[in-house]
Amino acid sequence: MVAVGKLVWQIAQKKDVIWIKWIHSVYIREQTCWEYKAPPNASWIWKGVCKANEVFKAGYNNNIWSTGTKKYTAKEGYKWLKGQYETVGWHHWVWNGLNVPKHAFISWLVALGKVKTRDRPKAAGVCNDVACLLCNSGTDKCLHLFFRCHFSRIVCVNFMSWLQIKVENDECLCTAWEKWGRRYRSRKHQQICYSAHAATVYHIRRARNHSLWENAVLQPDRVVQCIKQEVVGRVKMQMKESCPEVVRNWVTVISS
Ligand SMILES: [Zn+2]
Repeated sequence: MVAVGKLVWQIAQKKDVIWIKWIHSVYIREQTCWEYKAPPNASWIWKGVCKANEVFKAGYNNNIWSTGTKKYTAKEGYKWLKGQYETVGWHHWVWNGLNVPKHAFISWLVALGKVKTRDRPKAAGVCNDVACLLCNSGTDKCLHLFFRCHFSRIVCVNFMSWLQIKVENDECLCTAWEKWGRRYRSRKHQQICYSAHAATVYHIRRARNHSLWENAVLQPDRVVQCIKQEVVGRVKMQMKESCPEVVRNWVTVISS
């Protein structure tokens, strides 16, 4: 749609191009391009341009795009169509390029508070048991699982010491990713830490679901082992030749 918007821009500007002149003389004629409607027997291409015309016409003011300071580009059109959205801080670790895709997806749901936990049916009045499936002493909800649950804390302490990051008593999902990113200054180190963070979130949720369906709690050590294997495997797979020597050495140390 934003690419077709470029044609709309050229038509609105009456560019000195032969096909624009032809469209104005054959189709639009005396009308303005904003009032024009495609006839029923028009080609599907022209109907598509007219459809984009309808979408983008609100972005024009007297044939001038948006505020008039910039010409239409696909980037400008996309930003205009997208509108204003709240900027979130968690996108750094959730959509980090080194994340395993399934870890990124689950982390995204967790960041949005959309994972299925028992506190949600409880709030709807259809479930009374909200005990945490991993420690049986907290509530089965995101804030507890990431990372105030006793089980999660064992995993975090064990795992974060692997990355040489200290765990605080009041650790939670938000403070954790910020700290994991700050621990290392280099971008590559940060990406590896974010990848580890997303893997931890994924595997704690997986352990929670395992308890629900198998009625048995996994050993935290096994969970940590899985996280290490997946993070190291992913990092090695994605590591390019241009990766700095210091990062390569660090990855060798943490994977040994
Ligand atoms: Zn718990």
